[in-house]
Amino acid sequence: MATPLSAAKMLAALKAEGLTVHEHAGWKTHNRDDESGKSFGPVIGVLIHHTGGHNDKELCYQGRSDLPGPLCHAWLGRTAGLWMIGNGRTNHAGYADIDVLNALREEKPLPHDDSAKADGNDCLYGLEIENLGNGKDAYPKAQYRQAVLWAAAICRAHGWSERSVAGHKECQPGKIDPSFDMDDFRADVKKQLAAGAGKPQPTKPAPGKPRVDLSRLVTAARTDPGAKQGHISYMAGTNLTEAALVELGYLSKSYAGDGSFGSTTVAAYAKWQKHLGYTGADANGIPGKISLSRLGEKTGLFTVVA
Ligand SMILES: [Zn+2]
Repeated sequence: MATPLSAAKMLAALKAEGLTVHEHAGWKTHNRDDESGKSFGPVIGVLIHHTGGHNDKELCYQGRSDLPGPLCHAWLGRTAGLWMIGNGRTNHAGYADIDVLNALREEKPLPHDDSAKADGNDCLYGLEIENLGNGKDAYPKAQYRQAVLWAAAICRAHGWSERSVAGHKECQPGKIDPSFDMDDFRADVKKQLAAGAGKPQPTKPAPGKPRVDLSRLVTAARTDPGAKQGHISYMAGTNLTEAALVELGYLSKSYAGDGSFGSTTVAAYAKWQKHLGYTGADANGIPGKISLSRLGEKTGLFTVVA
């Protein structure tokens, strides 16, 4: 728990970390505190997002008809650099899982997110990274590097470790952003914190893809359909698999994203197996190593660990 950084302290922290910072006109007084009647803070961590689009800096400042801006504290362009967008409460996190927020506050390993009832906007800083988030839109090395520095700068300013960093997909069921692996990202933040401000560390050319654990996914596909409606065995892996099935047209979007590998998902997965040429028991909708790896490769959304 901490008092949010003032605009001046935020700028100083980001620049000290080694970032070049651009300022959107009006950002220092751009927030949702008065309109929502809820003030920003105390803060407990930082949240990473991808925007799901391109050229959306102004969108993040102005907001949408159904969600007023600012939609983040900072926007990180593909090549346009880091821009300050909001200061105070911003509409980036929506409702979050209270267990995940508690774990962030206590810097403990994050539990699986299975509810969205707690206000994430009053306690989390948010970074929106310009990226389509479809697994094929690569994050340039310099852009990913700046995201690591942004998170490290805020953690350093508050005396937090990398365990105060989360991805949106880790705290709100149904979200898949950002489209890179958050354990890899936290490891890079940890390295940066250890190296010291202004001493950028070499990072991998590209952030890792999220990993889906085959055995946990198989358990979900065998357990969820027979359990009570909406039973969740493996939220993150199921959501990624469903997102891939949606992208390839095997599953309707309305069935995806609740984290439950239900009978509709099993049926959709069976269609994918048939598309690959499997028949009979090999096309029963329970993921196998080859079919799941092909699904991850084809969509670019994940890699598989067995
Ligand atoms: Zn998000």
